[in-house]
Amino acid sequence: MKYTYTFSEGNKSMRNILGGKGANLAEMTNLGLPVPSGFTVSTAACHEFQENHGILSDQLVQEIDASLAHLSHLAAKEFGSVTNPLLLSVRSGAAISMPGMMDTILNIGLNDQSVAALAQLTKNERFAYDSYRRLLAMFGNVVYEIPEATFDDVLTDIKHQRNYQSDLELTVADLKEIVAKFKKIYETTDVKAFPQDPHDQVLAAVQAVFSSWNNHRAKIYRRENNIPESLGTAVNIQEMVFGNIGENSGTGVAFTRNPASGTKALFGEYLLNAQGEDVVSGIRTPQPISTLADSMPHVYDQLAGIAEKLEQHYRDMQDVEFTIENGQLFMLQARDGKRTPAAAVKIAVDQVKEHLITEEAALLRVKPEAVGTMLHPEFDHTALFDHPVLTTGLPASPGAATGQVYFTAETAKAAHDEQHQQVILVRQDTSPEDIEGMVVSEAIVTARGGMTSHAAVVARGMGATGVVGAHELHVDYAKNQATINDQTLHEGDWLSVDGTTGHLYLGQMATSDATINDDLQQLLTWAKAHASMGVYTNADTPADFERALSFDADGIGLTRTEHMFFKPERLLQMRRLIIATDATGRKDPLEKLLAMQQTDFYELYKLAAGKSVTIRLLDPPLHEFLPHDPEEIAEVAEQINTTPAALQTRVDSLKELNPMLGHRGDRLAVTYPDIYQMQVQAIMNAVLKLHNEGITVAPHIMIPLTDTQKEMAWVRQLVTDQIDKSMTNQSWNLDYTVGTMMEMPRACVTADQVAESSDFFSFGTNDLTQLTFGYSRDDVGAFLPEYLAKGLLPADPFQTVDIDGVGALMQIAVDRGRQTKPQLPIGVCGEVGGDPASINFFEKIGVTYVSCSPFRVPVARLAAAQAHL
Ligand code: ADP
Ligand code: MG
Ligand code: MG
Repeated sequence: MKYTYTFSEGNKSMRNILGGKGANLAEMTNLGLPVPSGFTVSTAACHEFQENHGILSDQLVQEIDASLAHLSHLAAKEFGSVTNPLLLSVRSGAAISMPGMMDTILNIGLNDQSVAALAQLTKNERFAYDSYRRLLAMFGNVVYEIPEATFDDVLTDIKHQRNYQSDLELTVADLKEIVAKFKKIYETTDVKAFPQDPHDQVLAAVQAVFSSWNNHRAKIYRRENNIPESLGTAVNIQEMVFGNIGENSGTGVAFTRNPASGTKALFGEYLLNAQGEDVVSGIRTPQPISTLADSMPHVYDQLAGIAEKLEQHYRDMQDVEFTIENGQLFMLQARDGKRTPAAAVKIAVDQVKEHLITEEAALLRVKPEAVGTMLHPEFDHTALFDHPVLTTGLPASPGAATGQVYFTAETAKAAHDEQHQQVILVRQDTSPEDIEGMVVSEAIVTARGGMTSHAAVVARGMGATGVVGAHELHVDYAKNQATINDQTLHEGDWLSVDGTTGHLYLGQMATSDATINDDLQQLLTWAKAHASMGVYTNADTPADFERALSFDADGIGLTRTEHMFFKPERLLQMRRLIIATDATGRKDPLEKLLAMQQTDFYELYKLAAGKSVTIRLLDPPLHEFLPHDPEEIAEVAEQINTTPAALQTRVDSLKELNPMLGHRGDRLAVTYPDIYQMQVQAIMNAVLKLHNEGITVAPHIMIPLTDTQKEMAWVRQLVTDQIDKSMTNQSWNLDYTVGTMMEMPRACVTADQVAESSDFFSFGTNDLTQLTFGYSRDDVGAFLPEYLAKGLLPADPFQTVDIDGVGALMQIAVDRGRQTKPQLPIGVCGEVGGDPASINFFEKIGVTYVSCSPFRVPVARLAAAQAHL
C-alpha cells in the first residue's frame, strides 16, 4: 500500500484517500494554479496509525522521508538544513470539511540555528523570529496540548509593557525575547523541550494531526454533522510561502460569491504582513478584499481570475485561502464555500441562469431544511422603528433571534438543556471549544473578528443568526457580564439580534413573518416540476390556509375540524354537545355548530379557488373539551344552565382512563351519528352556496380512527346518505370522495378490505406511530430523550418516520390498498409529512402526496423533488 501522494498525483475525486484539502490542492495544482508544492499522507495511514495504537509505521516514515527529499529537490532548498532550510506547513484535512476542528502547524523546520540562517538569507531578521515564535506556539499547542492562552499571555504582556496596539509593532528584540520565553514554557509546563531536529518536528506534527481526529471538539463536530467516525483524516505537508515578510506580503480568505447574500462578487478579507490564522482569529481586524484592488491591483486581478476559473471548474461557489509573498500570489486551499440558506438558493438559481449547472443540480444543491430557515421571521418593522439600536456589528449570518444571554459555552448549554431557555451566546470571540454552546444558541454575538471569523463561519453553517466584530461590546468573563458603552448586560438578560443588519437590541423584540423571495420562488417552481408527489397543507383556519397558499401548497390535505372549536363561543356549544345525554339535548348545540361550521368550510373552499380540500370529520379526544377544576366547572355550569354538581357528575361519567384509545374519531359517529351528519350537512351547505355563486367544489371527506372495513362502510353510508339528502333537489352531479385516515395498525394490515369502502387513504402517522410503538404521544417526553441519548432509537419517530416498523405497516397498507384499487390516492398527513428524510421514504413506497404545516410546505416541496430526482 502507498501512503503518500504528491499534489500532482492526486485529483478532486480522491477525497476519501487524500481528504478534501489534499484532493483540492492536487486539483488546483493540476489546473496550473500557483500552489506551493507538497504531498499528502493518506487517510489509510491514519487508519493504520489508529490500529497501531498511535505509532507511525516504519514504512510510513520511509515514505515521508522520500517525499521530503523530493520536495526539497523541487523547492531547491533542503529540509533539515541549517543553511538553506526548507520550511513546511503540516495541515490536517478530512474527507469532509471540518472547519477549525483539526490542527495546522506552520514553519516546521525552524530551530535555533536555521532561524538565524533564514534571517540572513532573507535579510529580514524580524520575519525569521516572527516565524519562529509562531512555530513554537503552534507546535506547543498542537503537539503538547499547552493551552494557546499560555503563549498569548506572554505576547500580551510584552505588548502591554511596551504600550503596543498591534503585533506589527513588535521589534526583533521583542520577538527574540518572546522566543526565549516560549521555549521556557515548554520546560516549565512539560517534561519535553521543543525538538530542535526538523525531522522529529515533522513526525510529531503528523502524529498530532492523526491523534487530533479523536479530540473532543472534533468528535462533537462529527456528531453534530453526522460525519462517520471511521473516515479518518489525511495530512498535507507543504512548502511554506510567507505572508509575514513585510507590507508587500499578506494572507487572506475569499469567497467567489458573497456567502451571506449570494451576490456574484469576490468577497473576503486579508491582512498584510501576517501569517496563517491571523485573519480568522480576529487578532487584528482584516481589510475587505476590495481594498486589495487598490493596494495590489495585479494580485487582485489574478485572484479574481483564479476565482472565476475555479467556479467554472467546480461549478459551485468556492471558499479559497491565499497568501501573497513579496507580491506573488499563492493558493493554499479551495473548497465548496459554506453559505447561508438565502445565499445557497440565490447561487443555485443564478448558476442555472449562467448555464453553469442544470435545474436538477440546483435542486439537489439546497438542503430542504435550509429553505425552512429562510422562512423564519424577521423583526417586526414597526418594533424596529421605536427600539434604539444598542450597538452594531458585522452582519455575519442573517436572521432575527431573541434570547437570554450567556457568556460561556457551558452556561449557554446548561440554560438551554436544563431550563429550556432560548439562549444567545455573547463572547469576545469564539473558538472551536465553544461548539457545544454554539449549536444550542439562537444567535452568536462576538466583540471581535471579521466576516470569516470562526463565529461567523459556524453561525452561517448552522443557520443560526450571527453578529460578529461588535467593537463596542466588551465581555468581562471574570464578572460574568458584558458592557456596551454604559449599558451592562448580565447573564440571563434578554437580547435581540438582527443578523441581517448587524444591529443588537436590548430586550425581546417582536418578529414578523418572512416572505418567499424571487429566487426561492424560482427554485420551488422547478421543484414542483421535478417532483411526483404533491405537497398539501394541514390547515384548520383560513389564516393557515392563506399562508400555505402563499407558499404554493397544492391544497389542503387535512383540516382538523375539532381545532375549529377552540374559540370561546364554539367551545361552549361543543361542551353543551358533549355534555348532553341524548339526541334532544344535542339538537340545539348541533344547530349552532352547523351555522358556524358551514361558514368555516365556505371560507376554506373559497380560498382554495379550485384546489382540493380534504376535511376530516370530528376526532375530539373528549377530555380536551371538558372543564376540569371546580372553578371551571362552576363557570361552565352557569353558562349552560345547570348546577355544578350535575355537571360534575356528567364530567365524571365521561372520564376515560385512556382517552387517546377511547371514545373518539369515528367511534363517536357510531354512537352519536348526528354529529357527523351535522358536519356533512355543513360541508354540503357550503358546497351548495358556492355552487349558486358559480363555483363547483368536489368535497373530500376523511374518516378518522377507522379500524375495520365494516366500520368504514357503515360511516361511509352515514356520510353519503347525508350528501344524497342535500342533493335531492339539485339537478347536477356532485363529485366527492370519502376516504380513510390510515392510523390504526389494524386498518393498515387489512387495507385491501378497507380500500373497498375508501376512495383514498391518508396516513395519520402521529397516531399510527403512537400505536405501533405503544408510545403515548403526550407522555414520550419522560423517556424518549433517554432512548435517543443511549442510541436505542435513531431519531424521534414522531418527527422522522420509523422506516422499519411504522414504515413497514405503511408499505403493507399501500400495497394491499392498491391490490383492491390500483389507482388509490394515498397521502400522509402526520407530522412526518414535512420531514425530508421521511418524504424520501414515502416516495419509495408510492405515496401520492404529503400534507404538512404551512411553514413546512416549501421544505417538503424541495424534499419531494429531491426524492424523485
Ligand atoms: P484550516 O483547515 O484550519 O483552514 P489550514 O491547513 O488551511 O487549516 O491552515 C490554516 C492557514 O495556515 C491557511 O489558511 C494558511 O494561511 C496557512 N498555511 C497553511 N499552509 C501554508 C503554507 N504552505 N504556506 C503559508 N501558509 C500556510
Ligand atoms: Mg484552511
Ligand atoms: Mg389521529
